[in-house]
Amino acid sequence: MSTVHNWQLDRAMEYPYEENRSDRQIAYVFDTNKCIACQTCSVACKTTWTSGKGQEEIFWNNVETKPYGGYPQAWDIKLLQQLDGQKWDGSRYEGKTVFENVPPGERVLGHKPEGDDYAQVNLGEDEVAGELDRGAHYMGTHHMWMFYLARICNHCTFPACVAACPRKAIYKRREDGIVLVDQTRCRGYQACVAACPYKKVFFNAVTRVSEKCIGCFPLIEKGLQPRCVQTCIGKIRLQGFISKPGEAREDNPIDQLVHIKKIALPLYPQYGTEPNVYYVPPVHVPLNFLQQMFGPGVEAAIAAYRNAANDRAALAAMLLFGNSPRITTRYAYTEEETIGYDDAGEEVVRVPLTEPYMVRAAYDARFKAYRYNTP
Ligand code: SF4
Ligand code: SF4
Repeated sequence: MSTVHNWQLDRAMEYPYEENRSDRQIAYVFDTNKCIACQTCSVACKTTWTSGKGQEEIFWNNVETKPYGGYPQAWDIKLLQQLDGQKWDGSRYEGKTVFENVPPGERVLGHKPEGDDYAQVNLGEDEVAGELDRGAHYMGTHHMWMFYLARICNHCTFPACVAACPRKAIYKRREDGIVLVDQTRCRGYQACVAACPYKKVFFNAVTRVSEKCIGCFPLIEKGLQPRCVQTCIGKIRLQGFISKPGEAREDNPIDQLVHIKKIALPLYPQYGTEPNVYYVPPVHVPLNFLQQMFGPGVEAAIAAYRNAANDRAALAAMLLFGNSPRITTRYAYTEEETIGYDDAGEEVVRVPLTEPYMVRAAYDARFKAYRYNTP
């Protein structure tokens, strides 16, 4: 074991390999408050990459309803039950990670889903937490809650799948941090399937090898965002590159939301893999649930999100979501608009900070007609 620094845990931790961060690290921000569970992302991914034989139950992208949904079933609960402690002291994680709480003879703490766990991709969809009493009626804000969690491979900085593979068949690309399975080396031992805390490596029963999200690298290499990002109806997603800890840039929208404003948080940081999909937490969910899921920064993240209308740097970064198929690595903003740029400094997108709108008169004198759909 080596000692590496995991900034999400605010401490050093054990990992089977030396710390060797890629030159660039792919990263995403997903705003859970905007997801409508239309599953366009899931379908876009599936029709692009996993529509072949043996891939029937493989969803590199899925969207599940929390608290009851999960694909494979209970993927997170089963690991949380095994993890020791999960205690935080401020921003520092005092519990053990999946690399530090390992059973004898294994490399990573994990579990392999059963066949039935993959049977229903959308089990629990739209189920709310709690039950409504008989006779309940509308009384303003109610206490029932649920939210949609869109999930892909996190292209972790310290991938558990890489750590577990006895064949060294999984690797992380130096140029963008995308994690890939070399299927010519894979022998189908499925150590990665058991090890990935997010259950984002899948075993293909026809080809007898493992496979996983490839970050749409053919698009990334052309300066384009992945399919799940480009097609997102709710405009909840932004893909870019996150800077190394301590090197955050004000003009990088991902850095702005993750490192600087801390509006977007990693999913289950306590697992220890330093995942690179960052989530804006839902604003309406009990904090204790969210703290287990996104770590101790949840309350501050929600407060910063609620204040975004008064924080132009944050607002300008969030308005880039879903507004261009191209990767926006830099951005700037004026009083009126936010402007995204690519690596070469070329303008990618320009979005007004305030959506222009018109209020039409209720009576249209030209047609002598009243419009009943206007105030
Ligand atoms: S999410 Fe899972 S499959 Fe993806 S890099 Fe992390 S450990 Fe590997
Ligand atoms: S396409 Fe976007 S809004 Fe629709 S389910 Fe996927 S993440 Fe949510």
